[in-house]
Amino acid sequence: MTETFISSVTPPAKKDDPALWFIVCGKKLLVNAEDGRVSIPVLVDIGELGLLPLREHYLGMYKGQHCYTAEIGETAEIPENMALHGIWGIFNHLDEDLFKVTLRAVHIIDWDRTDQFCIRCGSKTENKSVERAKKCPACGHVSFPRISPAVIVLVSRGDRILLARAQRFKDEMLYSVLAGFVEPGETLEDTVKREIKEEVGIDVKDIRYFGSQPWPFPDSLMIAFTAQYAGGDIRIDETEIADAQWFDCNRLPLIPGKISIARRMIDWFIEKNKVKSERQ
Ligand SMILES: [Zn+2]
Repeated sequence: MTETFISSVTPPAKKDDPALWFIVCGKKLLVNAEDGRVSIPVLVDIGELGLLPLREHYLGMYKGQHCYTAEIGETAEIPENMALHGIWGIFNHLDEDLFKVTLRAVHIIDWDRTDQFCIRCGSKTENKSVERAKKCPACGHVSFPRISPAVIVLVSRGDRILLARAQRFKDEMLYSVLAGFVEPGETLEDTVKREIKEEVGIDVKDIRYFGSQPWPFPDSLMIAFTAQYAGGDIRIDETEIADAQWFDCNRLPLIPGKISIARRMIDWFIEKNKVKSERQ
């Protein structure tokens, strides 16, 4: 199988070929938007749009086409037949692999913006030419794009699943699986056990890897697990959780959209249970 995306930090010597441009503006992406269709602009150079980028990085090749990312200022004039779209809004318009390049672009732009100065001595940093990193010319400190691992866990108890409404959720009806950041010194399994215990007071067992998803807002990598209930009663940590309950698969509350790995896990569990009950 050939890879659809090949990462690289080395751009072609000259911009001659039409390339995919992932143009970030604040928390949005500048896309072609005509007749309800949304696509990533294909340009030899961003200058064609009359835009002067604040920063620019070469990303690599997607299906044989060069990819660049750039950031434009929030006051930039939006070219005709283009629009600023929220990242989540364009998920439904792009191929999954192309959407992953979008997430990569957003993450790299955020890193470039954040790491302009050395965190050790404050000098202006420089991009390294051979890897995605910045080096401080004064003290030699090297910084890489940060990736913060977080676990996300679907806990089941027979044919019911544990869903919680976090205090930070804006939608008062939304419930999801539990998640939390990995702490220094922890294995991922330790994090799963600690987070579930801290947030809802229950013990889990049979922790199994499910999958992962980059979540560059700003720099998370969600590592998903399934686990089974092992003991305890739900006792929520009210600083983080507004409510948590065991839900029957046939009577689920409002859950996250298809884009999230949380939803993929919930859908997987429902499907698994359906197959099981059909067999019985
Ligand atoms: Zn330094």
